[in-house]
Amino acid sequence: MAENFNVVEQFGIDVFNEETMKQRLPKNVFKALKKTIAEGKELDSSISDVVASAMKDWAIEKGATHYTHWFQPMTGITAEKHDSFISPMGDGTVIMEFSGKELIKGEPDASSFPSGGIRATFEARGYTAWDPTSYAFVKGGSLYIPTAFYSYSGEALDKKTPLLRSMDVVSDAALRILKLFGNTTTKRVVATVGAEQEYFLVNRETYNKRKDLIFTGRTLFGAPAPKGQELEDHYFGSIKERVAAYMKDLDEHLWRLGITSKTKHNEVAPSQHENAPIFAPANLATDQNQLTMELMKKIALDHDLVCLLHEKPFAGINGSGKHDNWSLSTDDGQNLLDPGRSPMQNAQFLTFLAAIIKAVDEYSDLLRLSVASPGNDHRLGANEAPPAIISIFLGEELQAVVDALVEGKEYTSEGRQMFNVGVSSLPDFPKDSTDRNRTSPFAFTGNKFEFRMVGSNLNVAGPNTVLNTIVANSLTEFADTLEGVDEDKFNEALHDLLVNTIKEHKRVIFNGNGYGDEWKEEAEKRGLLNLVSTVDAIPCFTAEKNVALFKKFGVYSEVEMHARQEILLENYSKVINIEALTAADMAKTEILPAVMKFGKDISDIAASKKAIGIEPTVELSIAKKVNDLTAQLSEKAHTLSDAVVKAQGISDAEAQARCYHDEVFADMQGLRAIADELETIVGEDYWPYPTYDELLFNV
Ligand code: ADP
Ligand code: MG
Repeated sequence: MAENFNVVEQFGIDVFNEETMKQRLPKNVFKALKKTIAEGKELDSSISDVVASAMKDWAIEKGATHYTHWFQPMTGITAEKHDSFISPMGDGTVIMEFSGKELIKGEPDASSFPSGGIRATFEARGYTAWDPTSYAFVKGGSLYIPTAFYSYSGEALDKKTPLLRSMDVVSDAALRILKLFGNTTTKRVVATVGAEQEYFLVNRETYNKRKDLIFTGRTLFGAPAPKGQELEDHYFGSIKERVAAYMKDLDEHLWRLGITSKTKHNEVAPSQHENAPIFAPANLATDQNQLTMELMKKIALDHDLVCLLHEKPFAGINGSGKHDNWSLSTDDGQNLLDPGRSPMQNAQFLTFLAAIIKAVDEYSDLLRLSVASPGNDHRLGANEAPPAIISIFLGEELQAVVDALVEGKEYTSEGRQMFNVGVSSLPDFPKDSTDRNRTSPFAFTGNKFEFRMVGSNLNVAGPNTVLNTIVANSLTEFADTLEGVDEDKFNEALHDLLVNTIKEHKRVIFNGNGYGDEWKEEAEKRGLLNLVSTVDAIPCFTAEKNVALFKKFGVYSEVEMHARQEILLENYSKVINIEALTAADMAKTEILPAVMKFGKDISDIAASKKAIGIEPTVELSIAKKVNDLTAQLSEKAHTLSDAVVKAQGISDAEAQARCYHDEVFADMQGLRAIADELETIVGEDYWPYPTYDELLFNV
């Protein structure tokens, strides 16, 4: 991009944002549109033609010829179908047109997107509707309209629709609580999200030599390099020139699209990096993260690099996650997870905190399942990653407050402040002291929670839909309890509610080392769930309590839940199927021929030595070892292929996913172990594809 990139001038230049709207729309239309956006409503047809026309003119000036209703299907990053603005005049000429109808609603053919059976029961058609709270933008010659995608009968076919529903739900519930604390001016509470995105960069040329990276996004084979991440020199080292150029290019693209890319740095593993934006409303943050991932991949190619977003591209070193920072904010920007200063602010904060603790304990299965994917299975519970057990980290200060509350004691800190809910206030928490524990999957970090289990490749819509809904549920129950209470009894009633809630759910709080084996035992004693794999987690979607929850708040209908469960299971099976086929193929057509050639050459040397009377001791021992492992490799490759055939023959989605997990995946691991051992014996020149050394230390 341009040599002299002026960030202030270029920021959001490709976005039809509020400023552009103000410039381009008649005053009354602008006002009406703003109101629609603020209230999260649908666009009125009386103004849609004017908005569409202004949008089209603006987009054409920016070089666009097409428009697309951009949406987030249930699998894959995003989907788009591009239509041009042209409209024939009948005399061989065209004009560029874009109507309000075309802006508000699109009708892509839904039949090629997974619907989990919704389509079969209802209609093949799908609709997309503009989410006006997420601005349209121009990219690559098209006007992009962020939309929600649903079926003829109104079932959501995407990830965005449930997220938007959950944002409404948590807003309504939070407003009821705010009212109890005397706030009657806030009209909407917004779930805010900041998604820190980790990724790997590898050389494009090296990447192109590995079928596993091309087909599956991760290495299915590979012995560890002599050096890993043990020195932590990557994290603390300076950013390499080539990577810095990539990051700069990425930033400039993101800024043009109004994405507030803020932080970039190296990560712990070699070749691993991170990009973090400034937080935004959850739906916007979701759109922006999807765009960020797309651009990360695209721009890497311009730099002869490939960006890997897989959760575990390499065994033996850290995988990639996406820390989902989440909070609730009023429409005038008051962060509800900020402890605040006055007694009433503190009490309100503790109410939200208790609601979250209760929510996470009651619906830990949903949180776990919201981050379940075949890629993330490698991460959860593995090196540096949070375990598959959901627990909350509060930090020392907040823990002391909670303890004091439950034990009915006064809370003192440095001899300064006392605490009595709603009457006296809390001392300030030093913010940085809350984030020392990096091993917790769900950590309070001063004024927000950080959900660290999310995988790097995942759409954050899912986890945030769950978070919003489960917290809405706790808040609704609290409001039901407190709303009838007389004003003079309020503090007492609140106190009791908080104490009882925390007592009941404190088992989910854990401030210790979440990576230790002791925690697994302790968690089991506490009765906390440990849903180790995706296949263990997914069936929880339709557990009775979860169906009841989502139905109560209208976030998912029962049909939608069953559909999604089916899609998740099918997706699991499909991914493992592709991995297994790739692994078997690489073993049979690349590794086997290579090791046989090596074996032959070694044997030839041994034979020639013997012919002149030299005992080929080393050659013989290597040849024997290689011969032995070659036989095992061949056998294991065939076992894997047989397991795939077996799994493919199972028709029940859950039983099939189970088989892919228990048998196919296990066989893949067995095959890999043999191949990786061979890699350490067979000469480098013989090995058919680039090794970990070349992949990780060559950018
Ligand atoms: P780190 O976690 O690396 O210490 P920060 O805590 O500064 O960094 O921020 C991490 C992410 O959390 C950023 O994307 C930031 O915008 C986001 N964040 C900060 N405040 C909030 C909030 N109130 N709601 C949601 N995300 C937030
Ligand atoms: Mg963080």
